[in-house]
Amino acid sequence: MSFLDYAPAPESTSILHLKKSYGLFIDGQFVKGHGSPFLTISPSTEERIAEIANANAKDVDTAVAAARRAYDRTWSKLSGADRGKYLFRIARLVQERARELAVAESLDNGKPIKESRDVDVPLVAAWFFYYAGWADKLDYAGLGPNPRALGVAAQVIPWNFPLLMLAWKIAPALAAGNTVVLKPAETTPLTALLFAEILQQADLPAGVVNIITGAGDTGEALVNHPDVNKVAFTGSTAVGRAIAKSVAGTGKKVTLELGGKAANIVFDDAPIDQAVEGIVNGIFFNQGHVCCAGSRLLVQESIHDEVIDRLKTRMSTLRLGDPLDKNTDIGAINSKEQLERIRELSDIGEAEGAERWSAPCEIPAKGFWFAPTIFTNVSTSSRIAREEIFGPVLSVLTFRTPAEAIAKANNTPYGLSAGIWSDKGSKILAVADQLRAGVIWANTFNRFDPASPFGGYKESGYGREGGRHGLAAYLEGGSW
Ligand code: NAD
Repeated sequence: MSFLDYAPAPESTSILHLKKSYGLFIDGQFVKGHGSPFLTISPSTEERIAEIANANAKDVDTAVAAARRAYDRTWSKLSGADRGKYLFRIARLVQERARELAVAESLDNGKPIKESRDVDVPLVAAWFFYYAGWADKLDYAGLGPNPRALGVAAQVIPWNFPLLMLAWKIAPALAAGNTVVLKPAETTPLTALLFAEILQQADLPAGVVNIITGAGDTGEALVNHPDVNKVAFTGSTAVGRAIAKSVAGTGKKVTLELGGKAANIVFDDAPIDQAVEGIVNGIFFNQGHVCCAGSRLLVQESIHDEVIDRLKTRMSTLRLGDPLDKNTDIGAINSKEQLERIRELSDIGEAEGAERWSAPCEIPAKGFWFAPTIFTNVSTSSRIAREEIFGPVLSVLTFRTPAEAIAKANNTPYGLSAGIWSDKGSKILAVADQLRAGVIWANTFNRFDPASPFGGYKESGYGREGGRHGLAAYLEGGSW
């Protein structure tokens, strides 16, 4: 065997010590839910992972009451330095259990292990370390007049980065002195429940974080609960809009991180090899289940054919399959419903006249899969150019001048992120200045850092997560 044939052994689920069924995590303990339990399955095999409790309105009430008690009696009485110690402890425990969390995430979500191992879980620890460092600064750093926590935060998250979205929500909330009731997405509850075990290991006071599982009705009951002071939601624009309406006039503070349709703009002076890698990473990372995915490639007309040729060559090397295989680049689509949506929009793309090309991947017999796909000859008014597909599907558009690139990039109801590829710094800065997007990457894509604020313009939502802005979103008068 030559070293070229070497294939590392896949990760094994034997590292996991999963229970057959999971309760709700309320007031520091796992308890039964009053709704009908549901199953979480592995999207790559369609096999059952565990039975999950379903929180009804009564359970939501119990969880919010536990969070309120914890806020009044313990968490609001602690110094920032003491809150910080708990956050540091959580970060260390995430690192200690990193391999287990990565395997559980890939099993439940379908994402490749190299992503959950090298991106998701390390970023989860980084988020807790980062906000741990902020907790004591709030006491003394003179950051605005006497920063005060808001109280009980209701947090609802999606399925694409289950543990990372949890970290984005819980870490700043706790650092700022709030208590939390969090609801993970119904197709990916597993790592949030393992995280609840970590909270027990960390001896976090009971009720400071409560994790309740269930579907949209559970989320709705949670965000509308009258004793909630802050709502933080990440998910679709449709649900975000409904939440914004239902909490309007209640006095609850709200942050919404919603959908996107990012432009990845490649100029003819860009370093092409690097740009092709960036295009691939921009749309095929996490099967394209990324709110800030570079799902619209805007390529300068003069280099269109060369970029598409190189892109197809590179896409032909992508390995689709078992998420636990360390060589896998493209994992499973998270659910049957999502797969159907991707198929439907792709069929519409073809019917609207765009040219479809898919990487020649072998599709496993079981599970939910979609081969990396690009559409060329896409019209700006077509649905695949306008709607979020949230899958491994790239729509390619062309432009001639920077002004046309900017106009096309901004021609979307969304405004979460964008990428610019050029070897001229002045061009990058001038274009970036005119893009209506919250996050703009230059000669790179999909890079995240806890110190950097993240959030959208227009229908991509409002408020920022990450950095001190993310902390301010959990403080009274927090505008600094
Ligand atoms: P979704 O809106 O269907 O669900 C998100 C969460 O909201 C789930 O936990 C769900 O159970 C819950 N929910 C559903 N209906 C609800 C209601 N009426 N009230 C309260 N909660 C409700 O979204 P999804 O399909 O899970 O996630 C995909 C979407 O999330 C995409 O649009 C993506 O762009 C977006 N997203 C945005 C960001 C960001 O930071 N902007 C990050 C990740 C994902």
